[in-house]
Amino acid sequence: MLQLKKLVKTYRTGDQALKMIDLEVPDGQVLALIGPSGAGKSTMIRCINRLVEPSSGEVWLDETELTRLGAGALRRARRKMGMIFQEYALVERLTVMENVLSGRLGYVGFWRSLARRYPQKDVDEAFRLLDRVGLLHMADKRADELSGGQRQRIGICRALIQDPKLLLVDEPTASLDPKTSRQIMRLICELCAERGLAAIINIHDVALAQMFVSRVVGLRFGEIVFDGGPTELSPDK
Ligand code: ADP
Ligand code: ADP
Repeated sequence: MLQLKKLVKTYRTGDQALKMIDLEVPDGQVLALIGPSGAGKSTMIRCINRLVEPSSGEVWLDETELTRLGAGALRRARRKMGMIFQEYALVERLTVMENVLSGRLGYVGFWRSLARRYPQKDVDEAFRLLDRVGLLHMADKRADELSGGQRQRIGICRALIQDPKLLLVDEPTASLDPKTSRQIMRLICELCAERGLAAIINIHDVALAQMFVSRVVGLRFGEIVFDGGPTELSPDK
């Protein structure tokens, strides 16, 4: 279970991006985080794995308080949290396969992925994942030869090869057309169900969120203003 306790983030500019957030996400639950631009969605996702340092409050993943960890322990804990980004964050000149495998290293600099020889079990798992998302035949292509939807599938494989228990997903469809967006949301939610993963999916397209998730949390001005099932959400929220 993921728990946020009285989580606060105030940027140095004075922006109060998160004001006392309390939230519990049980194992295996997929949650959509919605709200207008500037509501604090990105900040919340990034405070969980401490890409952004919270100002105060606690983040717990099972028995571990992430907000207390030093650098080494944090690096290990981050392996349990896969991240998927709006703009994919792929290394363009590497192949699809190399991009997926780079997930085994955490986000420590892509040059190591060229130098390092991967264990066969990682390579096998990468092939399995690429097969699952329909990109097996693209494994040796360069990432920059692929379409947006295909690139996001690589991003999904790269997150999953970490064998995380939680996915942090930041606007996965914001750069995609409506049809591809639905495919990507469906894929992420199916994979979470297959693997028993929890996920927080930051998404501003409310209708898309309602289609696929069982719980919607609405943020506005850094506060939770809605928390419930997708059908309880009125159109003006
Ligand atoms: P979003 O699409 O999530 O609203 P933004 O365009 O607001 O993203 O932010 C893009 C980048 O700029 C992010 O890395 C964010 O952290 C940073 N950023 C956003 N707002 C500010 C700000 N007021 N001052 C400094 N950096 C900001
Ligand atoms: P959302 O993801 O919902 O669009 P963000 O978390 O990006 O919201 O932003 C929440 C608030 O924090 C906004 O007021 C934004 O301008 C501010 N903010 C985000 N990133 C930074 C940053 N790096 N420095 C200063 N302010 C920021």
